[in-house]
Amino acid sequence: MRDESKQSMTEDQFPQAFKKREQACLGNQWDDFVKAHLQPSPISIRLNPGKTGIGEVKLSIPWTRYGRYLNNRPSFTLDPTFHAGKYYVQEASSMFLEQAFNQTSNATAALNVLDLCAAPGGKSTHLLSLMNRDGLLVSNEVIQSRAAVLSENIQKWGHCNVVVTNNDPKDFQRLPGFFDVIVVDAPCSGEGLFRKDPAAVKEWSEDAVALCSKRQKRILSDVWTALKTGGILIYSTCTYNTQENEENLKWLSQEYEVEYIPLELKDEWGIVTVKDNHVIGYRFFPHLLEGEGFFLTVLRKVNGQSESKLNLRSSFTPPSKKIKEQISNWILNSDQKTFINRNDRLQFFPANKIQEIETLVKNLRVIVAGTFLATVKHDKLIPEHSFALSLELNRNFFRTISLEKEEAIQYLKKDSVMISYDKKGFALVSFEDIPLGWVNVLENRINNLYPSEWRIRMR
Ligand code: SAM
Repeated sequence: MRDESKQSMTEDQFPQAFKKREQACLGNQWDDFVKAHLQPSPISIRLNPGKTGIGEVKLSIPWTRYGRYLNNRPSFTLDPTFHAGKYYVQEASSMFLEQAFNQTSNATAALNVLDLCAAPGGKSTHLLSLMNRDGLLVSNEVIQSRAAVLSENIQKWGHCNVVVTNNDPKDFQRLPGFFDVIVVDAPCSGEGLFRKDPAAVKEWSEDAVALCSKRQKRILSDVWTALKTGGILIYSTCTYNTQENEENLKWLSQEYEVEYIPLELKDEWGIVTVKDNHVIGYRFFPHLLEGEGFFLTVLRKVNGQSESKLNLRSSFTPPSKKIKEQISNWILNSDQKTFINRNDRLQFFPANKIQEIETLVKNLRVIVAGTFLATVKHDKLIPEHSFALSLELNRNFFRTISLEKEEAIQYLKKDSVMISYDKKGFALVSFEDIPLGWVNVLENRINNLYPSEWRIRMR
């Protein structure tokens, strides 16, 4: 479960003020806390149930169905199934989101869920695996470059019930009462990442903690209007201090009517339950469990919130009849999807969420809505890369060329692929039966259609 190749930290590397505070908080557990930091971080992944038969691997992270510890860190970059969205590399403690969501929300309902601070996409891809496919996830990131990485990871996961946005939290005030669930995985001082990330130690200071705490309050109050009455807010940080956790939550219950929700835990999980006035939270320490430092709380909005009016008139352009006929066999359950044509790019998403998506497009900076299906060029359709990775792809309709590992890596580097194939036209390429993308087979060569900006850059 340990990554022996990685350096760990020693006691004198802790910032003095941090050490003094945590020694006082942890008492006789301080030595164990330090010892855990002498160990390398555990390595863990979370499987994509849409792309993996969940029965086929041994699962071992106790608070999630999908998580698994690895004995050592393989080269994820050189594993084609990683690029195909078969799994996400994620720290184990943060997968506790699954308990928070499943125990407090009706996962079978068509919920509107917002992941407000979403890049690079760990919580968002997890939420997509937990939510009903008729629900809609809005996966938002305020920093533009990080939103691009988020969008790539979301496309690899393969769901069409998701909208990726690039907005400031206050922009969500345009959507009062829109969301049933909001996840705020807040930017924080990162004390829980000291073992894994030496930069977190360097950047830490008491001033940084105070600054983060202030910013977190602003984020919470900016997004509050967007939560329905009775809706659930999941707040998490990867830091231990109370200023960014309990103190912020106490402040929230002074400002708004809030009810904290207890979760059921098993003692053997090693998670510490925190009770402070009405606040109930869960703290993760690396000396008590196999994971990094983390904090999470779940609360319900109690008071009367007005709700957004949905856009009832559709401004989306549907594809032409001819194109509709062409694509009718391309995707599974196509009668349950809405297809649109925006600037000659075809997209699809769940038909039951068209009004919500219209409303989002009108009010936010939307990067991707649903799944890109194809580009229309002179009445011809060129399949989009995200469609190759989609869980809705009708694989029986498309030819598939299976690649060996070396060929798959060449393909992912966007090198020329030396495979012999005689039938002309677009074909999927796959590795271990999971689609990686498209090629176009021409008379005397094969065009590699892997997106340049996603290609593996290592030699
Ligand atoms: N939820 C992500 C995941 O599981 O992969 C990790 C999120 S990380 C802890 C916090 C995110 O908040 C970062 O992507 C960061 O860019 C973003 N952020 C930074 N400042 C912000 C602000 N003022 N408002 C909202 N988000 C912010």
